[in-house]
Amino acid sequence: MYLNNMTKTDAAKKDKILIVDDTPANIDVLGGILARDYDIRVAISGHMALDIVHSGEIPDLILLDIMMPEMDGYEVARRLKSNQVTSHIPIIFVTAKVEDADEAVGFEVGAVDYIRKPVNAPITLARIKSQLELKRYRDQLSWMVKKKSYKVKHSQKALEKEKQKLIQVQGDLKDTSEQAHKNQAYFRELFMNSPYGIVLLGRDKKILNSNKSFSDLFGYAHSDIVLNEFPASMPQERAQEKIKDIVQKALAGRTGKTETGCRHKKGFYFQVSALAYPIKINGVVQAVFIFFEDITQRKQFEQKLHHQAFHDALTGIANRRYFTEQLDNFLAMQKKKISVRFAVLLIDLDRFKNVNDSLGHQAGDQLLKMVVEKIKQCLRNNDLLARLGGDEFAILLSDVDSDELISTIAGRITKAAASPFIINGQEVRISASIGVVNQTLKYDKADSLIRDADLAMYHAKDSGKAQFQFFSSRMHESALTCLTIETELRKALERNELVLYFQPIINITSKFIEGFEALIRWRHPHRGVVPPDQFISIAEETGLILPIGDWVIREGCRKLLQLKEKTGQLLTMNLNVSIKQFLQNDFTDKLKNEISKTGLSPRYIKLEFTESLLMEHTQHALKKLYILRDLGVKLAIDDFGTGYSSLSYLQQFPIDQIKIDRSFINAMEQQKESREIVKSILALANSLNLSTVAEGVETQSQLDLLADFSCGSAQGYFIAKPMPWESLQKFIPKKMQVPCGPIQS
Ligand code: C2E
Ligand code: CA
Ligand code: CA
Repeated sequence: MYLNNMTKTDAAKKDKILIVDDTPANIDVLGGILARDYDIRVAISGHMALDIVHSGEIPDLILLDIMMPEMDGYEVARRLKSNQVTSHIPIIFVTAKVEDADEAVGFEVGAVDYIRKPVNAPITLARIKSQLELKRYRDQLSWMVKKKSYKVKHSQKALEKEKQKLIQVQGDLKDTSEQAHKNQAYFRELFMNSPYGIVLLGRDKKILNSNKSFSDLFGYAHSDIVLNEFPASMPQERAQEKIKDIVQKALAGRTGKTETGCRHKKGFYFQVSALAYPIKINGVVQAVFIFFEDITQRKQFEQKLHHQAFHDALTGIANRRYFTEQLDNFLAMQKKKISVRFAVLLIDLDRFKNVNDSLGHQAGDQLLKMVVEKIKQCLRNNDLLARLGGDEFAILLSDVDSDELISTIAGRITKAAASPFIINGQEVRISASIGVVNQTLKYDKADSLIRDADLAMYHAKDSGKAQFQFFSSRMHESALTCLTIETELRKALERNELVLYFQPIINITSKFIEGFEALIRWRHPHRGVVPPDQFISIAEETGLILPIGDWVIREGCRKLLQLKEKTGQLLTMNLNVSIKQFLQNDFTDKLKNEISKTGLSPRYIKLEFTESLLMEHTQHALKKLYILRDLGVKLAIDDFGTGYSSLSYLQQFPIDQIKIDRSFINAMEQQKESREIVKSILALANSLNLSTVAEGVETQSQLDLLADFSCGSAQGYFIAKPMPWESLQKFIPKKMQVPCGPIQS
C-alpha cells in the first residue's frame, strides 16, 4: 500500500480509489492514469483489500482485478457486498479478457462496471468519474433518505408524544368533567338543602331558582314564584324596599345586607336577615344570589335583652336608663327646634319605707306594683312611666303645655296614691309627693332636669307631703341656701351661735311645771334666730348632727343643773335625740358622762325619739333603749301618731312617755276623728302605764278636752312658747309655785 505524494488537504478533498491487483505493472498503469485526480490506495491481494476496507479506510471506489491467487476478485466483491458497511462501495472489475458470462458473474456479485486491459486512460477516467458521480448521487440520496426517515422517525416520535399527551388530556378531560359533575352535584345539594332560604335572580331580577328552605321560610312554592320579578313577589311591602336595595347593590357588583320583618304566606310575621351576593362571570354580574335566614328567635332574644336593659324587673315599666334616654331624646328634639312640648313628674312615695319595714319586702313589692297600676290609670297612652329606683317614679308627659293640665294629672296621681291599698287583707295607706318640671327649654340634659324635678319633689315633701310642686328657680335659691347653711353650720358650733330655748311642760291637773323641752336655735349673725326646721335636716344629712347633738346633751344637762341651783326645784329636761345620734356606739357613754358631771339623778333627763327610730332599727334600738333605761334616764316617743307604730307594738320598748303629735291636738276640736284618736291613744297609754304629753296645745278648749281624756301633761303656745334661757330665769320663780290657768310667757 502506498500513498501518492499529495498534500493531505488535497487528498481529503479527492475521492479515494482502492486499486486491487496482484500484478504491480497493472497497478502502475492505473495509478499513473488516476494519481493526478484521485487519492489512490493499493492492495496486492484480495485479503489485503478486505483488510484495508475493514480497517475503516473506506474507499469511494474499488478497481478490482478478477484473476488473483488465493482469493479472486469475485470473492472479494461478494464479501464486500455482504458487509453492510462496505456493500455500497462501487466496484469496477478490471480484466484482460472478458466473456459475456464473466461479465454477468461480475454484475451478479455487485460490480458496477468493467474496464478491459489494456487499459485505455480516457475511457477508464470517464468510467471511473461517472461511477463516482453516480455513487455521490447515491450517497446523497441515501443521506437524504436517511435524513428524511430520521425526520419522519422523529416526527413520529413527536407525534407519539402528542398522542400520549392527547390521551392524557382526554383522560384529564374525562376526570375534569367528572369533577365538575361532582362539584355541580355538591353545589346543587348545597343550594337545595341549605338551611338558608336561597333564591337565584337573573339580571332582570326574575327568579331563576329557589330552594326548599326559601319555600319553607316564606310559604311560597318554587312554582309560585319562579320567573316572578323579585322582590315584587315578596309578601311583605315593608320588606320589599329593603330587599330591592340590596338586590340593586348586588347587581352593581357589591354585596348587600339587610334585616327585615316579613310575612309568611299563611300570614304570620317573622324576621329575616337577607344577603344579596353578585355572581360575576368574566367580571360581569350575571345573576344574584339572595340568602335568607330566619332571625326571629335571635330578634326576640335581642328584644328581651333590650327590654331587660330598659325595664324595671319588678313592675315591668321603663327603668331609669330608658327614661333618661327618652328624656334626652326629647331635649335634643327641642334643641333642634322641633316642636315638642313635654313635662316631667318625679314621684316619691311617702311612708313607703314604713310599709316595707313593718309588713315586709314582699308586701312592699306588691304595693309598688299596685301603685304603678294606679298611676297608669291617671296617664294617657303616650306618657312614659318609669321606676327610677326604690319608691321613686318618673313620668314623661308628652304633648302638654299648660300648668293646668299638668296639675290635673299630678292631682289625680296624688289622689290615687293616697287612696287605700289592700295588701294581704290589710289596709295600707301611703301618699305621693310629686315634683314637676314644665319649663323644659332651659335644659340640655336629662340629669339636670331630673335633679330639678327632684328638688321640687322635696319641696312637696317639706310642705307636708301628699302633694305636688312645680319647680321654680326659687327652689334653686333655697337649695343654694341649704348649701350655705351647711358651710355656716360647721362654724356655728365653734362660734357659739347655737342656743337652747326651753318650752315648759305642765301637769294638766295641777297646772304645775313638770319640766322643759330643750329646743335648739341658731343665732345667726345675719339671719337672726334660725329655727331648727331650717337646719336640723341638713345637720342630719351632713353628719353635723353628731357634734350638735353632743352639744345639746351637754348644754341641756348644764342648764338643768343651773335650774336646780336657781329654783331649788328638780324639773325634767326633755332632750331631742336624732336617729344618727342615737346609733352612735358611744352615745350612752357620752350621755352617762354628761349626766354624772352634773351630779344629778339621770331620771330628770328625758330623751325624745321618733317612732321611726324604733321601727327601723328594732333590735339594735331595743338593746340600747334598755341600756338607757338601766342608766336611769326616761324615754319618750315624740310626735306620736304620725308613724305606724301601734301602742301595743311599743310595749316591747322600755318607754315611759308618749307625746301626742301636734297635728291631732290641733284638729281635735274640729275633727271628731282626731278627737277619737287622741282619746283612744290616751286610754291605751294610761292602761299601759305610760305618761302622756299633748303637744302644741294652743287653746283652753284643747286643754279642757285633754283633761277630760285624762291626758297627763301639756305643752304648747297656750301654756308658753319656747323661750331663751334669760326669759326662763325670769319666768320660773314667778310661775313655779303658783299653779294657775294658762301661763303666758
Ligand atoms: P318637736 O320635737 O316636735 O318640738 C316641738 C315643736 O313644736 C317646736 O318647734 C315647738 O316650737 C313647736 N311648738 C310647741 N308648741 C307649739 C304650738 O302650740 N303651736 C305650734 N304651731 N308649734 C308649737 P321647733 O322648736 O321649731 O322645733 C322643731 C323640731 O326641730 C322639733 O320638733 C324637733 O323635732 C327638732 N329639734 C328641735 N331641737 C332639736 C334638737 O336639739 N335636736 C334634734 N335632734 N332635733 C331638734
Ligand atoms: Ca320633741
Ligand atoms: Ca313633737
